[in-house]
Amino acid sequence: MTSFANLVRAESGPMTADMVLHPADFGLGRVPARLLPSATAKTVCGYCSTGCGLNVHLNSAGEAMNLTADPAYPVNLGMACPKGWESLTPLAASDRATTPLYRTVRDGALEPVSWPDALRHFTDRFKAIQEKHGPESIGFLSTGQIVVEEMALLGALFKFGMGGVHCDSNTRQCMATAHVAYKQSFGFDAPPYTYRDFEESDALIFVGANPCIAHPILWQRVMMNRRSPEIVVIDPRSTETAQAATLHVALQPKSDLTLLYGIARELIARGAVKTDFIAANTTGFGQFATFVREFDLARVRTEAGVPEATLRRLVDIIASRKRVSFWWTMGVNQSHQATRTAQAIINLALMTGNIGRPGTGANSITGQCNAMGSRLFGNATSLLGGYDFATPSHRRHVAGVLGIESAKIPAQPGYAYDEILAAVDRGEIRGLWIIATNTAHSWVEQNKTREILRKLDFLVVQEMYATTETAQLADLVLPAAGWGEKDGVLINSERRLGLIRKVARAPGQALSDFAIFKLIADAWGCGSMFERWSSPEAAFQILKEVSRGQPCDFSGIRNYAHLESSGGIQWPFTEHDGQNEGRGSSPSGPGLKTGFDPKHQDHTATQGRPEFGPYPPTNEHANERRLFEDGRFFTADGRARFIFDPPRPLPEVCDREYPLQLMTGRGSSAQWHTGSRTNKSAVLRKLAPTVLTLEINPSDAEWLKIRHGERVRVRSRRGTADAVAVVTQTVQRGHVFLPMHFEEVNRLTIAAFDPHSRQPAYKACAVAVERLSR
Ligand code: SF4
Repeated sequence: MTSFANLVRAESGPMTADMVLHPADFGLGRVPARLLPSATAKTVCGYCSTGCGLNVHLNSAGEAMNLTADPAYPVNLGMACPKGWESLTPLAASDRATTPLYRTVRDGALEPVSWPDALRHFTDRFKAIQEKHGPESIGFLSTGQIVVEEMALLGALFKFGMGGVHCDSNTRQCMATAHVAYKQSFGFDAPPYTYRDFEESDALIFVGANPCIAHPILWQRVMMNRRSPEIVVIDPRSTETAQAATLHVALQPKSDLTLLYGIARELIARGAVKTDFIAANTTGFGQFATFVREFDLARVRTEAGVPEATLRRLVDIIASRKRVSFWWTMGVNQSHQATRTAQAIINLALMTGNIGRPGTGANSITGQCNAMGSRLFGNATSLLGGYDFATPSHRRHVAGVLGIESAKIPAQPGYAYDEILAAVDRGEIRGLWIIATNTAHSWVEQNKTREILRKLDFLVVQEMYATTETAQLADLVLPAAGWGEKDGVLINSERRLGLIRKVARAPGQALSDFAIFKLIADAWGCGSMFERWSSPEAAFQILKEVSRGQPCDFSGIRNYAHLESSGGIQWPFTEHDGQNEGRGSSPSGPGLKTGFDPKHQDHTATQGRPEFGPYPPTNEHANERRLFEDGRFFTADGRARFIFDPPRPLPEVCDREYPLQLMTGRGSSAQWHTGSRTNKSAVLRKLAPTVLTLEINPSDAEWLKIRHGERVRVRSRRGTADAVAVVTQTVQRGHVFLPMHFEEVNRLTIAAFDPHSRQPAYKACAVAVERLSR
């Protein structure tokens, strides 16, 4: 007879059998029998810029069946966030684009077509537009999610082969500010740090950054810090990171520039600046010191809402700690005065000598997995390899390496993302090719953006999924392989080149982006220009040569196998470094000393921390290196620049009709951007709200008669979004917050841009909130 206990605790049956663990090879410990792998493959995660190493478990057919975080990879040391653990799930989604789709009749349905027909439509229609409206009448918008070899081939194909000029990437939405700020201040787009700096700081100052959920593995590196660091978060919201900080500076939205100038003024007033470093290695400090005099405590209190005592405590921390590191992400980059704000952070690091030493730096944390690759090899703002389109010697050099005529390289960089859409709006650009990005969800002022996209004569979308908001507007959909279905290199936030591997077959007729670009080159009639780009690894060899002699020189990396066996390699890694690898000398770049100097190593910082396992460091910790140890920068005179401008008013201030400031940002560590991949995972959907939620302060909720959990309508001058109210102290009175992963949110945001980086100001606009009827 079945006992009651047996009803609730079965000791046999399929679910019980599944829980029995069996020893697995490859150092994987024990796994269920159905998940026993026949082999493993090393790869790097394809979501965020952290660049975590993953071991993919393969079945006997060599196909991915599971994955685990690589315990030896120097980035993540065996950890991964929910997105990484669930990386394989979106590959099997039912809405994958499996065949090219073409819309024969405007407003008709997308119908399957063959690849030859798709390529014919692509070339015929883009060429017809160019013939009628000129070569500059076509453009592309790309992504920081494809590999370096693909983005370089795309940029070269479009500009040198197809004769186009205007192209950009969704890295404009996340990292354009850091790119411009570093280039102007340091002479090259060069994030100076290594992740080990999280562990070696005495004080970490996070500005507009929420690593607890946006970069969770980097937050784990902070948690490995054994120096009892001060952790300061400068953010209007009481974010997850702010709640874990030792000091939260809750300022007003977009007042960070005023606050940072106020900090600089106080540091100067106290004499807490490194005059020797400033004199030897920088330019412009005198003018900067004069400029910040007017940013006194009272002004910071009035304009930024930061009490004098809080500012004094923050200045105490910076002045008293030996190793201070400054970290920023989208709270800074996505602003109407973003570049100068990033440079105000750089100025603080320079004036206090907090750069080029362990645990220091003015450190931009990148967003997407290959945003750094896009910044160097997207061929949009900068010519391949970080060169300038406008400099004839740069054009000649790149043309020489590629084996093309330098006349094929345009002398101007072309329009930024917003300028491309504006050109579509006024009929100047008639054909657009969108690759692996979801413009019809992620761009600001969404109602207007969709109107603009509908004006195009021809819209091509190259995507993993035919269901994204942008693919739904396309005239032609090209089905693309995703991460895990192709090989190539990603460059992470700390300048580490990491290898991703093909561990699954793309569904149906989907092809890697690299293969699609090669087919288009042949169909267009410029295939011979890219004959040497015969595979991603062959392209990597070409890009090594492009990088030679640049600050990002990685000519010392022999091949993919070298990258894989090294646990990734940070740039610079010159041919000289490659030859001396394993001989005990520190790697160094052209004109700079970049080697990690063991004498700076504080061994208390690494107690209990796993070392590199199977990845052999070329010398002690040479696999984790920072820039500027010798105080020389990439400017012509080797000196960093103090760059500053007065703060500018918000593009949209609150008024009686729109009385609340809307902030947008990441919702959870289980969500990625527009959700085209993460929404495919049942696990990830369980870890984050599936409905749009609005964070609102209790005082405002009471004033608007809104109760927790009620449905509300958020209204801006540009559109509306319905959400569920979450009444919480995490936002200040007068502010509300929406997570960016929901399509409705960018109906509200404003098309305002930083004048230097052209990055959109997602983080502040004026809205009204009203309760929907009970
Ligand atoms: S999403 Fe980022 S933090 Fe998460 S596993 Fe991937 S690389 Fe690591």
